[in-house]
Amino acid sequence: MATPPPVVAYVALGSNLGDRHGHLAAAFAALEKLPGTRLLARSGLYETAPVGPPGQQDYLNAAAELSTTLEPLELLDHLLSIEQTRGRIRRERWGPRTLDLDLLLHGDRRVSDPRLTLPHPAMLTRAFVLAPLCELSPALLLDGATLAARLESLDRSGVRRIAS
Ligand code: ADP
Ligand code: MG
Repeated sequence: MATPPPVVAYVALGSNLGDRHGHLAAAFAALEKLPGTRLLARSGLYETAPVGPPGQQDYLNAAAELSTTLEPLELLDHLLSIEQTRGRIRRERWGPRTLDLDLLLHGDRRVSDPRLTLPHPAMLTRAFVLAPLCELSPALLLDGATLAARLESLDRSGVRRIAS
């Protein structure tokens, strides 16, 4: 079977437990090594106030732009296994995590599967996802508005860019 043409996909990275910088650096390194995939760009790092149960550390967030021949569910499986290599244990919803990797966009694919929703349903309402993503692709159009315009309309007070 012929290899499918590559598409551009975007991944959100987050960590608020343990060595947050180490977890994100390891995640970028692992994304670079995925089969059929190139890491085209990475955003700067953002420190953001946590959503969810109280008493958690701030998050470190970033985004990655990939070129990939992986199908959406194949890419999701790789993301979940990278999370596992950093010791992620799923406990309470929105609780602290060593590493969270969410697939935001996979070309213009729309997916509604029990394991995967694309575009990621929360990406347009969360400044900690949209701010790093906008560094990579501000002019990307989704449902008639650019990502940059959508970010403008969000509250960005809890989201600080700390490093490139
Ligand atoms: P969250 O990221 O919402 O805090 P988890 O990381 O624990 O929660 O993910 C729970 C499940 O969400 C995953 O096992 C995965 O199957 C599902 N999921 C659905 N859509 C996506 C997506 N676009 N990216 C990543 N996971 C997704
Ligand atoms: Mg997740």
